[in-house]
Amino acid sequence: MELRPRVEVTPSQQQDIARLIAGETSTNDSILDQHGRDESAFPPVKPSLVVTPYSTEDVSKVLAYCNTHHIPVVAFGAGSSLEGHVLPIHGGVSLDMTHMNKILEVRSEDLLVKVQPGVHRVALNENLNKIGLFFSVDPGADATLGGMAATGAAGTTTVRYGSMRENVLALEAVLADGTIIHVGRETRKLSAGYDLTRLIVGSEGTLAVITELTLRVHGIPEKMAAATVIFPNLAAGVEAATTIVRSGVAIARCEFLDAICIKNVNARDGLSLSESPTLLFEFHGSKQGVEEDALIVGEIVKEFGGSEFSWSTEEGARRKLWQARHNAYWASLVAHPGQRIVTTDTAVPLSRLAEAVAVAEEIFGASRFPYSILGHVADGNFHCFVMLDPNDPKQHDEIRELTHQLTNRILAMGGTCTGEHGIGLGKIDDLVNETGRAGVSVMRSIKSTLDPNNILNPGKIFHK
Ligand SMILES: Cc1cc2nc3c(=O)[nH]c(=O)nc-3n(C[C@H](O)[C@H](O)[C@H](O)COP(=O)(O)OP(=O)(O)OC[C@H]3O[C@@H](n4cnc5c(N)ncnc54)[C@H](O)[C@@H]3O)c2cc1C
Repeated sequence: MELRPRVEVTPSQQQDIARLIAGETSTNDSILDQHGRDESAFPPVKPSLVVTPYSTEDVSKVLAYCNTHHIPVVAFGAGSSLEGHVLPIHGGVSLDMTHMNKILEVRSEDLLVKVQPGVHRVALNENLNKIGLFFSVDPGADATLGGMAATGAAGTTTVRYGSMRENVLALEAVLADGTIIHVGRETRKLSAGYDLTRLIVGSEGTLAVITELTLRVHGIPEKMAAATVIFPNLAAGVEAATTIVRSGVAIARCEFLDAICIKNVNARDGLSLSESPTLLFEFHGSKQGVEEDALIVGEIVKEFGGSEFSWSTEEGARRKLWQARHNAYWASLVAHPGQRIVTTDTAVPLSRLAEAVAVAEEIFGASRFPYSILGHVADGNFHCFVMLDPNDPKQHDEIRELTHQLTNRILAMGGTCTGEHGIGLGKIDDLVNETGRAGVSVMRSIKSTLDPNNILNPGKIFHK
């Protein structure tokens, strides 16, 4: 790996940037500190300067200046990413997008919205729900839409409504030299040239800074039902889930939590779920439709030893259940005070899921680290939450080695090292193993064409 020196933004460069833009700049130590950490277990690294743009023009001016002066720029949303994405490992500027947080347009007749990148997903939904609409992509954290597009985020409803890749229709973005581009259209279909929208979605701030998003939204279904069922072991639950997906039942959510996760969410959220491997479901449709779906699922799970199947359309209980699912990560932290979590994110073809989960149990079960398993099983995607003591750096290295072992076994099954969290710092070598040197070299050519001075989030996705 080529060493690249850390870039400090000099006082005169700080003044230049402050003069150029309407937005704010800061070198306050606590603000630098806040922008030098994320939800990963990587050690924090402070940026040299935090810049908070107010507009696309501000972003364009900052990037043009930093490009001329070879200053790294790392876009920052909510900082909830899990692979060290926002850590400014080569110094420079952290570009905090959270002041660009306006919902610009809601077009219910076209089922689309236009938002600035700093809008948080929960705030967007609070606004949309009032007029009978919702935005479907729901990572467990209250992330920004810009960060979610940049990581290609997904969530519990992806099985029905897709991930960010399917729900971003168009983008405004600023390239490294300050050029403002508009990619995609407001249409549901598009076949015009290379798909630059999906090139930027998932590019982790390494190709462009997103300054506006046009998103698909959905009508809130007439009825929603939630269901839970427990299993004697992990494998039975996973087999049941994949069979249900293959049966064609229109599930809107299907999530798996092991007994430890259930114990943790019971303790944190005051629930009384049976502490066994559990599948959570949600069905969307008409009153009759959700009832039929729930009954079919109730029959299928019996074949796999599922018991205590219960379902309900009661809104309060449904919300509480899914809130608890979204809180599973925080519940693990509450159960292990002072610890941090390394979260794996592998995905496999559905037919290999039970085997993949068994491999994860084998690897982490033989280790000294407490862990739990949960996942978006209907997408073949699951996570292990592996607990570590942040004061002992050796533990992080050891867990990273175990996750690479897991990833290698997953790749051999035709799977991927990351279903939704992205590459960041943590999976750079896994990306090469997964895609091959030739494929990664194409990615690098795209990067060097769009960002020849390598100022946009350097050291992520690729070394350097
Ligand atoms: C409890 C918990 C649960 C989670 N569950 C899920 C889940 O179910 N599914 C999932 O996909 N993820 C999940 N995540 C991970 C995380 O929430 C997502 O990766 C999310 O998309 C990150 O958004 P953010 O606003 O926090 O972005 P940040 O962490 O701030 O940034 C992430 C990346 O995007 C870049 N970026 C940010 N804004 C922009 C912009 N405007 N333009 C260009 N690049 C930008 C950054 O440079 C960085 O590389 C979870 C995280 C936590 C803590």
